[in-house]
Amino acid sequence: MESTTFAASGHDIGGLYLFENITDPAVPAMLAQCAVARFQSGQQIPVLHDGQACVYIILRGALGNTVIDDAPGNHARQTRTEKILPGESIGELSVLDDAVHTHTLTALEETDLLIIESHKLWQLIDEAEGVARNLLRQLSFRLRAANAQLRRREKVGEFYRQLSMVDGLTGLHNRAWFNDRLSVLIDEAHATQRALSLIMIDLDHFKNFNDSHGHLVGDQALRTAAGVLSAALRPSDFAVRYGGEELLVILPDSNQATARMVAQRLCERMREAIVFDDMRAPLPHMTASFGVATLAPHQDANALIAVADAALYRAKEAGRNRIAF
Ligand code: GH3
Ligand code: MG
Ligand code: MG
Repeated sequence: MESTTFAASGHDIGGLYLFENITDPAVPAMLAQCAVARFQSGQQIPVLHDGQACVYIILRGALGNTVIDDAPGNHARQTRTEKILPGESIGELSVLDDAVHTHTLTALEETDLLIIESHKLWQLIDEAEGVARNLLRQLSFRLRAANAQLRRREKVGEFYRQLSMVDGLTGLHNRAWFNDRLSVLIDEAHATQRALSLIMIDLDHFKNFNDSHGHLVGDQALRTAAGVLSAALRPSDFAVRYGGEELLVILPDSNQATARMVAQRLCERMREAIVFDDMRAPLPHMTASFGVATLAPHQDANALIAVADAALYRAKEAGRNRIAF
């Protein structure tokens, strides 16, 4: 690293954002003694200068500022490098709040840096008119950029959260969503003294169906079954893929009579649905069994699921292709 002073470096303060529109002659006088250091491409720039925080202003060349980016959706911790160009500066925050920030600065090409040590920056702020104003403007730009980035990350995070709650095969809500939401819906139902029902559904002899027609056609049948639910439900109801060939629906605001009607309708539509094989020929109809449970006072999610599960078992025992309570 070669080093000289700003006065001897041949650069002037025109074009340095921190000193834009400053006519106070005290500024060049104070900067004259500051060091200018030359770094070669690939060289790392120490975050501290002589053990102190400092501001670097790029006079020539470019710096890469590498920060750890753990935005949601990044499965591994990733780093992101911002480029800092001539006229721009870095390190003001470390000087202002006296904390060392964890980033890595690297010269991206041969680079000349004006080094303003912490005490010198404070002196400039105190004594030279306009420096504080420029510094504030720089910081507000940074703040805006950081906020915009945060909003983008929030959107990305929300996207991945939604994605992780959807079943990939059927497009229905998945079990993670169900585990998350059922207790919330139950709490709401108890709090507002409204009814809520759950219908647990299991396709009949689906192992045979797979064995006879192949797993891919089995997948197609599952999508068809999911379509039957989606088409028959109100927008306020929820259809979920609970496990392999087990589906369920949550019916908010629905008492046992309504749930019975809905389950009956789903059972009929399921046996009428047509699944095609890979030659586009219709297959023998599939059927499903339905266990219906309606929320009792003080009942929690696990208890409600257990009741629906027991009802489903009775529907199977009674011969399948039917509903039970
Ligand atoms: P039952 O009438 O008693 O429910 O009989 P079943 O054969 O449906 O019951 P079982 O639980 O023994 O078998 C479920 C079958 O569902 C086994 C598995 O091959 C199939 N299955 C589970 N998930 C999937 C899937 O994602 N795709 C396909 N194609 N089949 C699946
Ligand atoms: Mg099953
Ligand atoms: Mg089954």
